[in-house]
Amino acid sequence: MEFTSEELRRYNRQLIIPDIGEEGQRKLAGAKVFVAGVGGLGSISCYYLAAAGIGHLKIADMDTVDFSNLNRQIIHWTEDIGVPKTESGARKLMNLNPHCRVETVQQKITRKNCVALVGDCGLIVDAMDNMEGRRALNAASVQLGIPYIYGGVHQLDGLISTFIPGQTPCLECVFPDDGSTIPPETPGILGPAAGVIACLQAIEAIKWIVGIQGLLTGRLLSFYGYDMTFREFRISRNPDCALCGQRRSE
Ligand SMILES: [Zn+2]
Repeated sequence: MEFTSEELRRYNRQLIIPDIGEEGQRKLAGAKVFVAGVGGLGSISCYYLAAAGIGHLKIADMDTVDFSNLNRQIIHWTEDIGVPKTESGARKLMNLNPHCRVETVQQKITRKNCVALVGDCGLIVDAMDNMEGRRALNAASVQLGIPYIYGGVHQLDGLISTFIPGQTPCLECVFPDDGSTIPPETPGILGPAAGVIACLQAIEAIKWIVGIQGLLTGRLLSFYGYDMTFREFRISRNPDCALCGQRRSE
């Protein structure tokens, strides 16, 4: 696959990064990424992934744009109130980069449909706002062997890690499902805090696709906006993990 002169200009500033180059750019163009949620995290990660030249983005969200989204979900504008987030997002992404094919899924992500939804993608970017959806993504990731970039944000803080089935812990190893059914409260979120985590997720996604070393594997990176620090926690596989544990299959 050859790039047009327009594409070479569009991607020039990343093409000249030695670890990317035209070979890396071709990998990006050939990638299909599932972004689960077009909210505070997905708004930003989608923008950067489309801008970077990911060939195919599959974006999923069941909601429509509400005024209460606009402090952080900056892919959606005031004129989009009431419009499905997938539709609003796809329009911006295709305007930003017409070389990026955007596929939309306007439905809730559940344990039942998740494998079918993500099965044709090579990478999962978690931009969900609830653990139930994340557990569905993680289960599909483990079952299908598709890497899963976890991200979460709360007020001024955030978390991110990259889970690669068979190599690293999975979400369940780190945050075991205790079966609690307490309905989640609506968390306060500062827009740029979501932006920090979503940008880190986009970097990880691009690194994984291109094959750049130093992924956030076996590490949980925590961002604290109040004191402006990052802290890193070592995480390891739980042999008794209900999803990926070795002992479970014995
Ligand atoms: Zn696990």
